[in-house]
This record gives sequence, structure tokens and C-alpha cells, in this order.
Amino acid sequence: MNKTKADKVNVYAYLTPDPLDEDSTVETEWMEWIPGFNAQEDEDGSHPFFRDENIALLKAIELTTVSHFRKSLRNLSVLLTNHLFDHIQIAIDHLGIVCRDTSVASYDYGNSQPEMGKYVMHASRSLVSAYIKAGHDLTKLSPYTAVTWEHEIIHLLDHWEVVKSCVYKSSALAINKFTYYLLSYRNEGLADLFYLLNGRYHEVNSIEAAKTAFDSAVQRVQHKMLEKDMTDDEWNQEIFSEMDCYEAGPWLMLDLLRSFEGCWHERLIDEALLKISKGEPLSHLKTIYIIRIALRVKTEDFLDYIMPLVPKYKQGVHAELLDQLVLN
Ligand SMILES: [Zn+2]
Repeated sequence: MNKTKADKVNVYAYLTPDPLDEDSTVETEWMEWIPGFNAQEDEDGSHPFFRDENIALLKAIELTTVSHFRKSLRNLSVLLTNHLFDHIQIAIDHLGIVCRDTSVASYDYGNSQPEMGKYVMHASRSLVSAYIKAGHDLTKLSPYTAVTWEHEIIHLLDHWEVVKSCVYKSSALAINKFTYYLLSYRNEGLADLFYLLNGRYHEVNSIEAAKTAFDSAVQRVQHKMLEKDMTDDEWNQEIFSEMDCYEAGPWLMLDLLRSFEGCWHERLIDEALLKISKGEPLSHLKTIYIIRIALRVKTEDFLDYIMPLVPKYKQGVHAELLDQLVLN
């Protein structure tokens, strides 16, 4: 069988910090969340980390993570053309320091270097737990967990638009933070298209429902913005804890694609919507084709689409600011 680009990319996963490092300060009880980890000292009194079965378990975690990642890379292999790929490292966050509680994995755009073909991902404890519990039986993974890496690889392919959005996030101005919030519907919606086009979704089950969910989520966010001047931490906790973008985002992206690039994709998108509404997957070829189109939706295109959907909320000292945002 010919090796594809996805097979040739170097993928390397490692637990960080490395519990087997001789200078490691990792405590035994910190590792007890790992299913199958033996916290007892060895018969000869050596540290539990160095029990043969624990060394084998830690190695298996790294290899399993690579294997799941490579499977997802193969799934998206057509999209890898024209992207420089040399090295992908997956840092397994086994102490739960980097990954938020709600996040199973993440693409680290800040430490990635697309110009060198080097990319960094993070895997969470919950993802690793799910892999260990499922073993070789992939049907034991939840459908959403099973496509975790497709989601993160789409973020990777979308690198520069992700970076552009994050410039809004790091701004001190509320109006820019709000723009970042809106763009999260694009970024997460795009990354979750693979899941939706497989005929899978959560609560939101149509474009109409997505618009309704978006409307009420934005009103909640605007209320919070008007309540007080938020610090960065408050933004992250109060605004992004809601994360409606995963629910509504992929549907809104499909809605946008219907009229994107002169409506040429409308028929294909309608065909996809018909399939999804019956809970059926779209063919792999068409799924990839739609994601390829969606990757061409730039930040500005999405803001042009979403701004008319932003409800106006007039009250308080920021009303003018919000008005301006809606009207622009
Ligand atoms: Zn994401």
C-alpha cells in the first residue's frame, strides 16, 4: 500500500512532565487516575513508577495516542496537501495543568511553527482515560471523543485564522473580546463540521435551532458585558464557560456555506443537511470537500455573515459600544 502524507508525518506523544525522569517531582498519587496504574512499590522496594507493568502502561498510553492521532490524520489526508508537515508532538497533560476541565485536547497555535512544519497538540487525562478503557474496541469511545483529533487537526489547518481571532481575544477592549466570542462560532463550528457531517449532533438539530441558540447565548453574553467591566479571567470563566459555539457553530457554518462563493455550494450543502436531518452520514468524499470549502471562510467572511444575526441589546454604559458593534 502506498504511504500517504499522513503516514509519513512524524508524530510523537509523550507524558509531560515525564514521571520516569530521574529529576521528576511527580508524586505517585498524582498518577492514580490512570486506569490500571499500580501504586504499590515493587517487591524489591523500587518506586512504583518503575514497576514493569507501569512502564509498559505509560508507553502504551503514548503509543495509543499516536495511533489514534494518525488514524484521524489519515481521515483528513486529502486536506494535508499544500501544508508543510514535518513533526507533530502531542504533549499528554497527565497532571491536568494545561487542558481545561471541559477540554479533551487542544491545538497549541502559540507553540506551533507552520513555516517549519512543526505543530504542538495537547491531550487531556479524560482523553487518555477513554483510550485506555476502550482498548482496541473503538466502538467504546463516544462518537464525539472518537473524532477529537479530526477537530484539532482542522484547527491546525486553520492556523492563521485561529491566530487572527486570538488577537481579538488578547485585546483589552470589550468590543474586541466580543468579536472573539463571535469568531469562536466560526472556529469551533468549522472544527466540528467533521462530526456534524457524520450525521452526529448534540441538542441543536437544525440551522433554525442554531440561530435561536446563538441569539439567546449572545444576549446572555451582552448582559454580562453590561453588568461590569470584566477582567480577562472573568471573560474566560463567565463568557467562554458557556461555549455554545460547539452546539450552534457547525450549523451556522453550513448556513453560511449555502451562500458562500456565489451560492455555488448550495446544492451540496442542502444535500448534506438532508442527510444530517435523518441522522445519516454524508459520504467521506463530500464531507472532506465541504470542510475544504469551509477552510476558505475567512474571519471577515464570518463576521459579515454573523453580524446581522447579533441581537441588539440596549442598556447601560456600553450600549453605544454594542450598538456600534452591531451596526458595523
Ligand atoms: Zn476546538
